[in-house]
Amino acid sequence: MLRVAVVGAGPSGVYTAQALVGQNTVPGIRVDVLDRLPCPYGLVRYGVAPDHEKIKSLQGSLRTVLEDERITFLGDVEVGARGLTPARLLELYHAVVYCVGAARDRRLGVPGEDLDGSFSATGFVSWYSAHPDAASERFGLDRPGAVVIGAGNVAVDVTRLLVRRAAELRPTDIPQGALTALAASGVRDVHMVARRGPAQARFTTKELRELGTLPGTRVLVDPADLALDPACADPSGLPAVNRRNLEVVRAWATAAPGDGAGPRSVRLRFFLRPVEILGTGGRVTAVRFERTEPDGTGGVRGTGRYEEIAAGLVLRAVGYRGVPLPGLPFDAARGTVPHAAGRVLRDGSASPGEYVAGWIKRGPSGVIGTNRPCAKETAASLLADAAALARRPVAPDPVAALRALGHEPVPWSGWLAIERAEAALGDALGRGPVKIQDWEGLRGAAREGDRPGGIPDPGSDIRNPAGSDV
Ligand code: NAP
Repeated sequence: MLRVAVVGAGPSGVYTAQALVGQNTVPGIRVDVLDRLPCPYGLVRYGVAPDHEKIKSLQGSLRTVLEDERITFLGDVEVGARGLTPARLLELYHAVVYCVGAARDRRLGVPGEDLDGSFSATGFVSWYSAHPDAASERFGLDRPGAVVIGAGNVAVDVTRLLVRRAAELRPTDIPQGALTALAASGVRDVHMVARRGPAQARFTTKELRELGTLPGTRVLVDPADLALDPACADPSGLPAVNRRNLEVVRAWATAAPGDGAGPRSVRLRFFLRPVEILGTGGRVTAVRFERTEPDGTGGVRGTGRYEEIAAGLVLRAVGYRGVPLPGLPFDAARGTVPHAAGRVLRDGSASPGEYVAGWIKRGPSGVIGTNRPCAKETAASLLADAAALARRPVAPDPVAALRALGHEPVPWSGWLAIERAEAALGDALGRGPVKIQDWEGLRGAAREGDRPGGIPDPGSDIRNPAGSDV
């Protein structure tokens, strides 16, 4: 039998597990999917915005994979903590696939970035997605102006959430604390600011267009921003997605002043690069930008002209970055683990038994589905190595070894108990399922089965029976 640990239960981890058990060239593979959270699904649970129910419904197909009898979910197990180093993990399994994503935000590197009121958009996303690490976060939502820096899909998500009415979020699984804070929000005007033009923006058209459908919110674009870029006048050479984005932006730029009037506005600004976040008394008051212009190669150059946009809240949505895991090689410039077709490279050579997939392999880009071929490539490398890997002896019972280190894995039945607790919480609030936001609450719900009449002891059925209906 080949025992494989997949570290990370997000899309790349689940697709890797699926690719490993869903083939017939190497029989008898067992995959343990470890996650530092007691909950599976990674960014599908903790990154996809709550009002994107269709994308979130992908959890259903990830769930089917995790309920395969050859796959075991082990939540609340943090690799890198309590002596569970990559080297120790490799003693427990024939192979380990790291699918740990890109857990941090990129920094802007401008003065004022750490003023009160300036936050990473990824932190804001974690907060409204009920990530337990963000449970105690507070965002200054009391002032009317907000600036979102960046022109990717995260920028669009946080912009949308800032202007969405609470009534529209209430039917979602957004945690109650975030819903209450957003309901009381005084934010009225959100400026989403890109350093390049609409022809180079990274958001996708569906997400962009959605900004124009929000009740009570006007989208404003300054036609002068579009006039700066020759590509806006003749978009024929652009990739289809950029062309479509441009069409949407141009329609907003030419809309009559009264169109879509409402109490809130989203202003899309282009060709402005942030140079400083300004504040008074330690609190953000504005962002200073330098006007840029196209450099003819898809980039921009500064013009020496500056502009300030007043804001009480700044969300920096300039991308995620991978975090090094002590004991695993890391390319700090790219924020990824060096690899060849998914095989981890140590000093330029493939490290037997160590693999990567997803954002930690290729960087934080692409949509959820992009992880599928990425995971398949890694699984193919692992399967090609399987005969050699299987010859190495490993611990007979990895779960016992994890417990000996002080980890208490939350099994699939524990996750199902969390789901039930979230449904009960929603019932009590007169809502659908509502996410539990804190570590204590998640762990308490997962271990609910320890009580008489609760779900079975998570420790007693650590192996997940296929399709178990607890
Ligand atoms: P992203 O797509 O890489 O966008 C980052 C944005 O930040 C770009 O506009 C970039 O501008 C800008 N930026 C970077 N450094 C900057 C700086 N120093 N100053 C000003 N602007 C700067 O990243 P993301 O939005 O975090 O998204 C990550 C991935 O998740 C993407 O693949 C995205 O599509 C995906 N995602 C998808 C969805 C969805 O499908 N609904 C939702 C969320 C995220 P330049 O282009 O000029 O570098």
